[in-house]
Amino acid sequence: MSQIICPKCGVKTEKLYKNTCRECFLKSFTLAELPLVLHANICAKCGARFDRNKWRDVGDLDEIVIRTVEDALLIHNEAKDVEIYVNPHQMTPHFYKVRVEVDAMVEGESLHQDLRAEVRVIRGACDRCSRMAGGYFEGILQIRATNRVPTAEEIDSCKMICAVMVEKLWKKGDRLAFITNSSDSKDGADLYLGSCNACRHICKSISNELGGSFTESATLHSHKEGKDIYRMTYAMRLPEFMSGDIILFKGDVIEIKNSGKNTKGISLSTGSRFLIETSGLKGAKLIANRKDAVAAVLVAVEGDDIMVLDPTTYLTVTLKKPMFFSSSAGSEIPVISTEQGLFALPEDSEHKL
Ligand SMILES: [Zn+2]
Ligand SMILES: [Zn+2]
Repeated sequence: MSQIICPKCGVKTEKLYKNTCRECFLKSFTLAELPLVLHANICAKCGARFDRNKWRDVGDLDEIVIRTVEDALLIHNEAKDVEIYVNPHQMTPHFYKVRVEVDAMVEGESLHQDLRAEVRVIRGACDRCSRMAGGYFEGILQIRATNRVPTAEEIDSCKMICAVMVEKLWKKGDRLAFITNSSDSKDGADLYLGSCNACRHICKSISNELGGSFTESATLHSHKEGKDIYRMTYAMRLPEFMSGDIILFKGDVIEIKNSGKNTKGISLSTGSRFLIETSGLKGAKLIANRKDAVAAVLVAVEGDDIMVLDPTTYLTVTLKKPMFFSSSAGSEIPVISTEQGLFALPEDSEHKL
């Protein structure tokens, strides 16, 4: 094998690395570089880190310091199997001393380098926290119900769904998913949200859980620097009838089981299942609720009919046998008294008397 002379030190070698012998190459090789002073920008309120023009939720301060160092660390691109160990040491809440060790393989040789840096922690307010503090909102979510006022329970459920969804979307990266304000009105409640995306998700979630539908509309809010500022309004409408409501619709008495895009129930008049598109329930009237049911003694069961003792008149009356009926004579069953007469209620696991 031919021998070459290293132009730097004059030693005879078989192979040149970047025009020098192996020894000279490794001597002049810088594995890693790190600025002596680094800055970590964090939000004083929520601890988010500002990095590459964006606020991100990273983790605790130690983790942010480690990431700040890792982001600033330059490793030679000829290094292979690189291992980095960052050891942050907090001196004050504003100042960290950091020791960094880098191990790597270069030209088949394992190299090690120790580095040191200072990280100065700069605290400010992130986009989310400053907007929240400033009362910023993009959308108003109005909680209403069709032809009635939502109950306090329903409004609480909607607010709960909203809180859960906002938390979920924030964790997924929608930093404007927050509630700025909420106000109760005589028609329901209004929630002010930082992001329209959140409004939409919350409305969908409310529709899934409580039924109802929503519409989206833009309204001119103000003029700012010659520009029209629009605000989005999300009108959430809970369904007119809720589970347990008993309605009169086209002469039929129906117990509502579920109401969303479609309304499902059981006809108390015929004992059959009832299903209709909710928008088609025009003219339906609320006449009672399962909560108003009273207990009546079952006298006898005959085919599709049952005989019960009317709890107000104490006369025996014949009623239509409800669906899923398993009671036997002598027991008490729930009945409901309406202007249309007395009706036996189907067994209901959720609303047992
Ligand atoms: Zn040399
Ligand atoms: Zn913040």
